Amino acid sequence: MAIDIQRAGEIDKSSLFHAFTWVSDLKREGPTIMSEAQGVRIRDIHGNEYIDGMAGLWCVNLGYGRQDIVQAIAEQSARLSFFHTFNGMSTDVAAECAQALLARAPVPMARVFFGTSGSDANETQIKLIWYYNNLLGRPKKKKIIARWNSYHGSGVVTGGLTGLPNMHGLFDLPLGPILHVSSPNYYRYAPEGMSERDFSRQLAAELEATILKEGPETVAAFFAEPVIGAGGLIPPPEGYFEEIVPILEKYDVLLVLDEVVSGFGRLGSYWGSQIYNLKPDLITAAKGVTSGYFPMSASFVSERIWSVIESEADRAGLFAHGYTYSAHPVGAAAALATLRAIDEEHIVENAAARGAELQAKMRAALGDHRLVGNIRGVGMMIGVELVQDRATKAPLPPANRTGRQVLQAAASKGLITRALGDTLVLSPPLVATAADIDEIVGRFASAVEQVAEGIR
Ligand code: PLP
Repeated sequence: MAIDIQRAGEIDKSSLFHAFTWVSDLKREGPTIMSEAQGVRIRDIHGNEYIDGMAGLWCVNLGYGRQDIVQAIAEQSARLSFFHTFNGMSTDVAAECAQALLARAPVPMARVFFGTSGSDANETQIKLIWYYNNLLGRPKKKKIIARWNSYHGSGVVTGGLTGLPNMHGLFDLPLGPILHVSSPNYYRYAPEGMSERDFSRQLAAELEATILKEGPETVAAFFAEPVIGAGGLIPPPEGYFEEIVPILEKYDVLLVLDEVVSGFGRLGSYWGSQIYNLKPDLITAAKGVTSGYFPMSASFVSERIWSVIESEADRAGLFAHGYTYSAHPVGAAAALATLRAIDEEHIVENAAARGAELQAKMRAALGDHRLVGNIRGVGMMIGVELVQDRATKAPLPPANRTGRQVLQAAASKGLITRALGDTLVLSPPLVATAADIDEIVGRFASAVEQVAEGIR
């Protein structure tokens, strides 16, 4: 059935239930409908062109319209469009993809479990943690700790693990043994005059106190993104993981590193684990694994956990977890093409160079702007927090939705960004050129200035 482009807005409004959207905004303004894209640029149905400063949703790392990935998907669909991994079945391409991912893991990992989204991959990790502790005869060791402001998905358990209150209240979450400790947002939450290192120590002390209060025999795992993304773009304060990891080790609490955004070069290193010198027990990846060309996620499982699953297998019987589309062969083919391109085109090196430019140029353009309280980021991830008053850090009135105004001004200047409240974020495709970075920063700064003029 051909789509009537002119009527697409009406059709959308009357049929499509949008993700993470204010229903009232959509009803009033209608959707923005995209229709084609190439490289870092995307066009809507009216022919307006934008630089996609968000790489879709932090995922289209290699840019749009890549014929190598398209070909890999087409060829695999023609050769074997589907088969699964239940009951010992497999496909050559899924096995090859698992091997290729293990070869690229930041620390030695034993197995990869595939899913189709970051949420389902983190649900898998949570189930594996519970399964592991049951096999070890520790039925009480089940609690999972995450941080306020973290984002780990929107499933029934992962939505609660995510530390964002607007994802909890009306959905009756969190469900299950989920705890939250403080956000590592130094700008917002460090006491006046405290150094970053001391703030990290304070957060580690809070984590330890939480584990002791709950009883270490009940605490199973700690989830963290290397740099918090969707919860406000928050890099760890100096020394954060150095302070946290010894506490986890002391109380035998597993570290799950959620690299759904940071994996495959986003931070200017292949993995966030490498930047912060981490040796996670479980790693979650998704998004960049196929550059968004096919829904796919990967839960990496370390030998520590796999060896228990394997040695207890006779007693446990069937490993009764998985999804129809776990290890989908078309996703595996898309991932293999993506991994090859990342290597051959030195994508991580480009992300490091362009990321350094993005960080420096954004600070040069907006570091002193009266509406900008804080600019923070690592590599090709940056956040700009708008404030009412730079000296007191007083936030803007929420009802003004200033972040959204900047998002709209940027769109009118041909730049897609994302507003997390009044923190605007950018996460461009990792194939962006130096000229693209200049255009992104220029359009973004001009959008901030336009909104600031309106407020004056
Ligand atoms: N983990 C992180 C760090 C994410 O940023 C996201 C999504 O943005 C997820 C998990 C959930 O992934 P998905 O939306 O594919 O379920």
